[in-house]
Amino acid sequence: MSNDVPDSVLDRAHDHAQRYLHGLAARHVGARAERDEMMAALHEPLSTLGEDDSSVIDLLAGQAETGMTDCGSPRYFGFVIGGAHPVALAADWLVSTWDQNAGIHAISPFSAAVEEVAAEWLLDLFGLPNDASVGFVTGGQMANFTCLAAARHAVLRRVGWDVELDGLAGAPRVTVVVSAATHVTIDVALRYLGFGTRSLVTVDADDQGRMRADSLRDALATVGGPVIICAQAGNVNSGACDPLREIAEIANEMDAWLHVDGAFGLWARASAELVPLVDGIEKADSWSTDAHKWLNVPYDSGVAIVKHAADHRAAMSASAAYLIQTSGAERDAIDWVPELSRRARAIPIYATVRALGRKGIDDVISRSCRRARQMASILQSAEGVDVLNDVVLNQALVRFADSDDVTRAVVTGVQAEGTCWVSGTTWNGHAAMRVSVTNWATSEHDIELSAAAILKVYGVELHNRIH
Ligand SMILES: *Cc1c(COP(=O)(O)O)cnc(C)c1O
Repeated sequence: MSNDVPDSVLDRAHDHAQRYLHGLAARHVGARAERDEMMAALHEPLSTLGEDDSSVIDLLAGQAETGMTDCGSPRYFGFVIGGAHPVALAADWLVSTWDQNAGIHAISPFSAAVEEVAAEWLLDLFGLPNDASVGFVTGGQMANFTCLAAARHAVLRRVGWDVELDGLAGAPRVTVVVSAATHVTIDVALRYLGFGTRSLVTVDADDQGRMRADSLRDALATVGGPVIICAQAGNVNSGACDPLREIAEIANEMDAWLHVDGAFGLWARASAELVPLVDGIEKADSWSTDAHKWLNVPYDSGVAIVKHAADHRAAMSASAAYLIQTSGAERDAIDWVPELSRRARAIPIYATVRALGRKGIDDVISRSCRRARQMASILQSAEGVDVLNDVVLNQALVRFADSDDVTRAVVTGVQAEGTCWVSGTTWNGHAAMRVSVTNWATSEHDIELSAAAILKVYGVELHNRIH
């Protein structure tokens, strides 16, 4: 292809994007098509001669209309997702346009500088040590992996073992502690690192999903040798945060590495009113978080932060003669993340943090939590509706008629009704509806509309059961 780019296909994509975004707030939130319908529209034998660019774009945009749940809708409350702030999306369009390989400095001094500054701002925003190292990865999963790789390196180095050179076979045993409410991505990250799930020490969690510090102390009482403790800020169901100051003290006494999975909970540090919830988090050795959740940048964007830069680098660094093109003062992203080639995903982070500022980010975070409380309080005021968790962050867990069947039916009914989208879960053995408010644009009115729709579905469900 020549450099002479036909404008039409890009204009076409831009039109589709604009139309989609303008209609987003009014759309039926859930997907309205199933696999069969999508496959019927999309599945063709591999083309030999290809097709016109614009018609391919039109086809995709047409199917996306019904085939997607609108995760960017201000009334999307499923999982912990977040939308895309306009400035983040605009920056992301340019990231694809520029198509920079952000792995090494020599290719793109621009992307490298943006990363360096974005890293500095995030550390400042979270109140973490300003000499901590930062890697921009795809999400919380890879952030947990990166941080725990640094942890594995550090705790073994301290007992004279180089895991990067000698591997785990024959290494001193590392005790890895998780809680009963740990996110599944911690287990997966540990698996990638050679710590099988059955080998983990699991500490009890309380009724909100917080690791119990007393149980942690008991679990470690008889343990010697290297220890890694995995704590959490922001339980994916309840939003609860582990008692991090107490856990950090225990970690300190044991000379253990403390990792905090703060996929969304770390953002509490950016809100003046929420800071007490994550008190002591700054004492950890590593932190993982997502930008594609609460900062509302497009997928995929996670951040791995490590207090001990040398351990982080030792666990991740890739050096080969053909890659090193710099004098040494420059920062090569490949030293801090698992990938080699990758998109310049710090650019939308830079743009969003710069455009919103400290105050704007605080607003997004604290506002989401107010909206979650608003939702909980409207729902709870209806007869037979219980909120099962303390709504301390952006998550509410709701149960209907104290019944698993009714609760599950309400979740399914709400998804089909389309005003909003919620997901289901099991909490302390009971079915619950999960409401997660993570979108920058969710208004009070969105919550009122959604709560009314949820209660209407609940009313119909009760009525059907009686008749
Ligand atoms: C979402 C989440 C993760 C995983 O993050 P991804 O970006 O989906 O990989 C890990 N931990 C917690 C607590 C989460 O909420």
